[in-house]
Amino acid sequence: MSAVSMLNPAGTASASAIALYARHTTGYDQRVAAAVAALRQAQAEHPGTLVQATSLGAEDMVITDLLRRHGLNVPVATLETGVLHAETVALIDRMQAHYGLKVDLFKPAQEAVVNFVREHGERAMYDSIALRKACCGVRKLEPLSRLLAGRTAWITGLRREQSDARGQVQAIEPDGNGRTKVSPLVDWSWADVWHYIATHRVPHNPLHDAFMPSIGCAPCTRAIAVGEPFRAGRWWWEDEAAKECGLHVKGA
Ligand code: SF4
Repeated sequence: MSAVSMLNPAGTASASAIALYARHTTGYDQRVAAAVAALRQAQAEHPGTLVQATSLGAEDMVITDLLRRHGLNVPVATLETGVLHAETVALIDRMQAHYGLKVDLFKPAQEAVVNFVREHGERAMYDSIALRKACCGVRKLEPLSRLLAGRTAWITGLRREQSDARGQVQAIEPDGNGRTKVSPLVDWSWADVWHYIATHRVPHNPLHDAFMPSIGCAPCTRAIAVGEPFRAGRWWWEDEAAKECGLHVKGA
């Protein structure tokens, strides 16, 4: 059976993301150096008030590795929305054990979730963009506001090639809400990300091996087909222009 293509016990396609994507391409070493430089600059400019807000996606796992590998003692936090895949939740424990770090979890307010579900149902996100964004507001944006409280800068895994909406992202820029957003992998390719993961044996989500390059909450993530855009599996029932949860919308 090929390492690149096989069926898992659930009968869905799976593959080795490393085998599929990892490639060493021209300029890789310079892009790694630039990422480390951006992280060092951010830590120097925001001592004690910088945080990595990890999505637990492949890019963010690379960033956590870069931080630890280069002795940058930046706290790591994530949004535990309550509807993540089991594989994603398990990754938190795996990365904590691997790096000997504590990942700070920010969960939605239980009462807000109960009220939202009671009023709109478990599947509200499929009913309208407004309800989907309202769900993201309860499960992501409000917890993010707590995650960022007292912080002057945050590190994200945004890359320009992820989507048209992210095509202009800068490595260090204002987030539109009074903080600095640091995106050290802006000019990395997907091949770079996986080359780094393979080279440094970075823990990563096995769902990437099931054709999910971009992983969010379970109800809102599906595998993509060959040739589909990177984020096609996120909120796949919506128009491309709507596909942000608000975390990276300036002024949100
Ligand atoms: S991604 Fe989906 S489940 Fe997660 S907060 Fe947004 S709408 Fe809700």
